[in-house]
Amino acid sequence: MKRIHNFSAGPAVLPESVIEEVKQDLFSFQGSGIGIMEMSHRSSLFDGILDEVEQSFKILLNLPANYKILFCTGGATQQFSMLALNLSLKDKPANYIVSGEWAKKAYQEAKRFVDVHIAGSSEEIKFKNLPKQLNLTPESSYLHFTSNNTLYGTQYKSEPESGNHLLVCDASSDFLHKPLDLSKYGLIYASSQKNLGPAGVTVVIIREDLLERTPNNLALNLDYKLFAKNRSLYNTPPTFPIYVMGKVLKWLINSGGLEKRQLLNAKKAQLLYDFIDNSKIYHGVADKECRSVMNVTFRMKTEEMEKDFLNQAEASGFSGLTGHRSVGGVRASIYNAFPVEGIAALIEFMKDFEKKQ
Ligand code: PMP
Repeated sequence: MKRIHNFSAGPAVLPESVIEEVKQDLFSFQGSGIGIMEMSHRSSLFDGILDEVEQSFKILLNLPANYKILFCTGGATQQFSMLALNLSLKDKPANYIVSGEWAKKAYQEAKRFVDVHIAGSSEEIKFKNLPKQLNLTPESSYLHFTSNNTLYGTQYKSEPESGNHLLVCDASSDFLHKPLDLSKYGLIYASSQKNLGPAGVTVVIIREDLLERTPNNLALNLDYKLFAKNRSLYNTPPTFPIYVMGKVLKWLINSGGLEKRQLLNAKKAQLLYDFIDNSKIYHGVADKECRSVMNVTFRMKTEEMEKDFLNQAEASGFSGLTGHRSVGGVRASIYNAFPVEGIAALIEFMKDFEKKQ
């Protein structure tokens, strides 16, 4: 069966080798006679899967011993309230950098529950760049930022200057795209459906001492301490997405780890940006210095032309290129598993389209 070029922003393309392996395990997991979706989360088989997933994160991220990995549900959206409820301290406003629509949503959701402060925003310039100057409160519970702005195609090349503020990051759309120094972070989270696997699990990596901040009156499924104490098995975790994520992590390790992935991602994005910069009908949305290597956003001369382009692209086997409705234009999401061949094919298509104008 033929697969097409899938530029979906999420749920997004998975490595083909992972899909092949999953196919086998759906029927019978490693010869056990039980399919992967049909086994107890308390079984020794699933215990082995969880062990391996944790181990893979430790290998990929060089994870310091004082960090806990939690597997939550509710997407990154649930983390917007969960982290605020767990980490907020009295009289210390949570600081937020509003660099895009998701960053704004994180701020707005936290505001419903805790004291918040906007430390910087690029909304006035339609999020085409990252906020440059930060205005932080003298003390804070944490400083929240979004490492990659999925809709606008902007991305932090390094962490924002956080001084003595505890850094908290939504890395949903670029987690594991390059090596990370986790010791700079108090907490980092990512929902699975872009770089980690199918939708359904949200990975939260938290410095252990911060678990002491969790108040006693939280709903069970919002309580980091409970997740940590029970290895995310207090209730039934999303076993299938966790299992597939384990396969994706193994694929990352076996294909050269995050150093290699960073080079590949840079190469993929560069190919596309170079082509856009040298064309007469396409132009990038995000400012050059903060362009994302995960979501490449661009516009064309007229909306009419964009419509035509997207229709022809879809008919030619390039799927998921329509820009988010709040930005318009075209967005090519090229996460870790998106192959470089797909980018070369898109560039050929774009060249042809340009010639016909
Ligand atoms: N943060 C970012 C950066 C995202 O890209 C998304 C989803 N596209 C979200 C948060 C929301 O994630 P979820 O749908 O898993 O709640």
